[in-house]
Amino acid sequence: MLIGAHVSAAGGTFKAVARAEEIGAECFQIFASSPRMWSAKPIPEKVAEKYRSEMERAGMGPTVLHGKYLIALGSPDAELVAKSETALRADMAAANILGALGVIFHPASHRGQGFDAVVDRFAASVRKVLDSEPGDTLLMLETSAGAGDHIGSSFAELGTLVRAIGDDRVAVCLDTQHVWAAGYDISSTDTLNTAIDEFDREIGLDLLRSVHANDSMRGLGSAVDRHDNIGEGFIGAAGFATVMSHEAFKDIPFYLEVPGTNKSGPDRPNVDALKKIRTQVGAG
Ligand SMILES: [Zn+2]
Ligand SMILES: [Zn+2]
Repeated sequence: MLIGAHVSAAGGTFKAVARAEEIGAECFQIFASSPRMWSAKPIPEKVAEKYRSEMERAGMGPTVLHGKYLIALGSPDAELVAKSETALRADMAAANILGALGVIFHPASHRGQGFDAVVDRFAASVRKVLDSEPGDTLLMLETSAGAGDHIGSSFAELGTLVRAIGDDRVAVCLDTQHVWAAGYDISSTDTLNTAIDEFDREIGLDLLRSVHANDSMRGLGSAVDRHDNIGEGFIGAAGFATVMSHEAFKDIPFYLEVPGTNKSGPDRPNVDALKKIRTQVGAG
């Protein structure tokens, strides 16, 4: 179990490596391009080469890319879906160039159409992206907090999407804050076991390939996506100890997306907090 964090890739993806090292992260997540803008420039081979040598020097674990927040494959707006497919393709291409573990993206909203109505189109879009970007990079659907019409707050919905897509490059990223907000109590052993059993039944545990490790500013089932620093929120340090001691997470990389002590994003105190818990539960 590696402890990583989201870091900035400003100035070139290779610069993310030193930033991760600086806070003690063992692996990291980055945006391949600005997450709130459609534009995406391909990563030049020179930059990728520099990135690879930096990764080797630092001995970093698997990198994941976070897809753009704008991606909305379940939208009824055909133009928005087309833009989303292009953006996701660009993220997958970047992941392939970097040799990343995969791209994590939000299933986003069905915009009032209902989940069932969008499954086939959503799956067709994902297949189109995967077909146009061959390689072994994973495409990971992220669990959602369940606000409004957002898809993927239940493991059943994610399982349905995964089967509809039917490609073995599709996997899942579990965000601890999102599943908590969606009503899965991962903080105590019994309820975590129930949640993991449900994940296994609905999706398949082998498809759990990454974790976003975030505490929660809001209570269980709030449906609100609001991350907190590790140990400062409703999940708490004890809750993370429960999660990290479960064998479902044994070999899964954890990526922090917390506000940070100075509100500047994941930092050393949060990395250290998770490392300390990992040592406590003997999951290192
Ligand atoms: Zn996310
Ligand atoms: Zn979130």
